[in-house]
Amino acid sequence: MFRKIYKAIKKYDNIVIARHVGVDPDAMASQIGLRDSLLATFPKKNVLAVGNGGGKFSYLGKLDHYEGDGKNTLLIVLDTPDQKRVDCNNVDQFEYRIKIDHHPFVESFCDIELVNDKSSSTCELIMEMIYKTKLKATKEIMEKLYQGLVSDTNRFMFNNTTASTFSIVSQVIKDYKLSVFELHADLYMRPLKEIRLQGYMAQNMKVTEYGVGYIKITEEVLNDFGADVASGGNLINNFNYIEEILVWLAITEDTKNNIIKINIRSRGPVINTIAEKYNGGGHKMASGAKVMTMDEAENLIQDLDDACKRYLESLE
Ligand code: AMP
Repeated sequence: MFRKIYKAIKKYDNIVIARHVGVDPDAMASQIGLRDSLLATFPKKNVLAVGNGGGKFSYLGKLDHYEGDGKNTLLIVLDTPDQKRVDCNNVDQFEYRIKIDHHPFVESFCDIELVNDKSSSTCELIMEMIYKTKLKATKEIMEKLYQGLVSDTNRFMFNNTTASTFSIVSQVIKDYKLSVFELHADLYMRPLKEIRLQGYMAQNMKVTEYGVGYIKITEEVLNDFGADVASGGNLINNFNYIEEILVWLAITEDTKNNIIKINIRSRGPVINTIAEKYNGGGHKMASGAKVMTMDEAENLIQDLDDACKRYLESLE
């Protein structure tokens, strides 16, 4: 499959690389890593990595703008299982489309689809493609891909981390002489105000009967801490391995967009199918959702609690 993708890439002089809305380090690092690898391999091609909101991950590099109409252009969509979440207009107008993703399959919308939900991250898939084809890489490219992979595995702690993950990471560190210590600082350095918000979240987390821990973060709380709407999502991974909790979520008021943004994590029941009922989706153990009212958020908490109950019963 990687070779088939490589062949398609070779055919096109104009390539646009997109990923999902609500950018995260795996989505952005995979597109920047792939763009720079394509440019290193085919310097004459015009390759753009597009999408909004990249500023907060500026250590990964700069994104581009695309103004074209898709004619004679290949679109590569990374890290996105469904068309509606692609952060690029008019996916259909591109002459040819390729998807490379590690989310559970949702729908087919590209001419070639490489979907491997056993892979830790889209960055791991791009590393693999570089090793299995004639694509070139540099230390800088691999540093970015490494950062995306570390972020999506939550430092190798999520259950998407496999022997293949360690194997390719070990190879990359050796071959490209990565110094991982500095790379982790980019990912995990936080302003003190966000850590104070983390303290608030720990203090105010409520726990349901069967182990759902939830924290409501109102606009007022965000203002008090000087934090932004993305903070809940940035901090949610830090609440893993709490004895009393199987599923945990941050529920953040986003008054600017008139929605309530929800970040959900699990170390037990599958949650993406539940998130799908609430305008969301994602991985089995890491999902997101969007609701309009706190009542809907309460329904989601109830559904998650029911899932925890079933999960606990299945263990008996
Ligand atoms: P987050 O909690 O935003 O870090 O997202 C965790 C995972 O769920 C990522 O793989 C996201 O792409 C996915 N995700 C987040 N929000 C949504 C949504 N509204 N719809 C579908 N997938 C989502």
